[in-house]
Amino acid sequence: MSQACFSSLKLRAELLENLASLNYSAMTPIQAKSLPHILAGKDVIAQGKTGSGKTAAFGLGLLERLNAKHFYVQSLVLCPTRELADQVAKELRKLARAIHNIKILTLCGGTPFGPQTNSLEHGAHIVVGTPGRIEEHLRKGALDLQHLTTFVLDEADRMLDMGFQVTLDTIVGHISREHQTLLFSATYPEQIQAVAKRIMVDPVMVKVVSTHNETSIEQRFYKLNNDGQRMDALRLLLLENHPESALVFCNTRRETQEVADELVRQGFSALALHGDLDQKTRDHTLIRFSNKSASILVATDVAARGLDIDALDAVINYHLSRDTEVHVHRIGRTGRAGSKGIACTLYTGNESDKIARLEDYLKQTIKNETLPPVSLLHNAPYQPAMATLQINGGKKQKLRPGDILGALTGKDGIAGTRVGKIIIADNWAYVAIDRGAARSALKKLENGKLKGRSFQVRKI
Ligand code: ADP
Ligand code: MG
Repeated sequence: MSQACFSSLKLRAELLENLASLNYSAMTPIQAKSLPHILAGKDVIAQGKTGSGKTAAFGLGLLERLNAKHFYVQSLVLCPTRELADQVAKELRKLARAIHNIKILTLCGGTPFGPQTNSLEHGAHIVVGTPGRIEEHLRKGALDLQHLTTFVLDEADRMLDMGFQVTLDTIVGHISREHQTLLFSATYPEQIQAVAKRIMVDPVMVKVVSTHNETSIEQRFYKLNNDGQRMDALRLLLLENHPESALVFCNTRRETQEVADELVRQGFSALALHGDLDQKTRDHTLIRFSNKSASILVATDVAARGLDIDALDAVINYHLSRDTEVHVHRIGRTGRAGSKGIACTLYTGNESDKIARLEDYLKQTIKNETLPPVSLLHNAPYQPAMATLQINGGKKQKLRPGDILGALTGKDGIAGTRVGKIIIADNWAYVAIDRGAARSALKKLENGKLKGRSFQVRKI
C-alpha cells in the first residue's frame, strides 16, 4: 500500500508543520480512511484496533475546525475511563501545540468537583472526560455545550459495555443541533449500531481489519478439564515463559482481583486493574506495570482497553472472551512494535461453542497445546527487573527528571544505567530502579536534596 501523506489533506499549515515535527510522516490506515470524511464534516464511524492511531484521526479533525478566538467549548471527547481521557488529552495537547492558546480540559470522576468548575469558568476549547462526570457538570449548569461543533465517542463499545447508554443520551440532549459526531470503536456490536442510528446523521463507516492472517502473533490454546485447573495452568505458563510484562485477561472484576491475589500469594509480582479500584491504586498499578516493576497485570477488558502500554511479552486469556472480536483485540496487544510475543488462551469444554465461533471467525482450526510439565510448579516465581520509588514532589514543586537522575547518580550514587523510567505527576514523581539497586537509591534520595530541599521517598 502506498504511504498516505498528511499533506494530501486540507489541514492548516501549523498542524501540518507540527505533524512533521512529531515525526508523523505518514497517515496510519485508519487515519487515511477516516480523515478525508472527518475533514469534510461528515459523521464518521471508525473501527480499528488499539494502537492504530485513532486519537490523531479525530484530534486533527476537531483541531482543524476549532476557532481559538472563541472561548467556549467546541469539542467534547467522551472516554470510558479516566486513564484513557488523560491519554487522549495528552495526545491532543501534542497535536495542538502549534496553535496558540488552546485550552484542553479533562473532566473525570474520582477527582474533586470544585476545581473542575473553576477551570470551566475560565473557558476551555476542548473537553475530554468520562460520561458520568460530564453529565454531572451539565446537570449543574457548569458545562455548556450549545456551541459544540465536534462530539467524539472514543472506545464507544466499552462505554456501552459499562452501561453508559442512558448517560450518553442525556449528554446528547444538551448538545447543539449542528454538530459533527465521530464514533471510534475497536469492535462494532449491535449496541453501537443502535446508538449510531439514534445520534448520528448518515454516518460514513470506515474499518481497518487487522485480524485474520496478520499472525506474527503466535496463538496457543490450552484445553482444561475443569475451571479448577485454570490457576495452575496460568502459573505453569508464567513459570515456563517468564514474561517480563504479561497481561492476563479475566471476564469479571471479581475474578480479576481473585486471580491477582492468588498470584501474589504464590509469590508472583502481579497487580489487578479493574473498575472497583480507587484512582490512586489504578495510577500506581499502571506506573508499576509500565516501568517493569510488576511483571503481571490482571485486568478486565474495560480497564485494559486502549491503554498505551507497549511491548507486552505475553497476553494470557484466563477465560476466553465472550466476543470473538474482543478476543482478537486482546491478543493483538502482544508483540507490538516489531517485537514478538505470545498469546495463550485457557478454556474448558463449557466454552466449546465460543471456540467454534472463533474458528469460524479466524477461518482456521484451533489446535490444542499441552501445558508445561506440572513439576515446574515447584520452581520459584520470577521477579520483575525493576522497583519503583515514589517521591512526594512533582511538577508543582518544579521537579524534573534531570533533578532526580542527578540526585541518584551523584557522588556515591548508583550508575545511570540502573535508572529506568521517570514519571513526573503534579505532586508526585516515580522513578524505576534496578531491583538490586533500589535500596541504595532510596537511601541516596532520602538523605540527599532535590532542588535544594528534602523530599520524602518510599518504595511502592
Ligand atoms: P488508538 O487510539 O487507535 O489505540 P492511539 O491514538 O493511542 O491509538 O495511537 C497509538 C500511538 O501511535 C500513539 O503513541 C501515537 O502518538 C502514535 N501515532 C498516531 N498516529 C501516528 C502517525 N501517523 N505516525 C506515527 N505515530 C502515530
Ligand atoms: Mg484510543
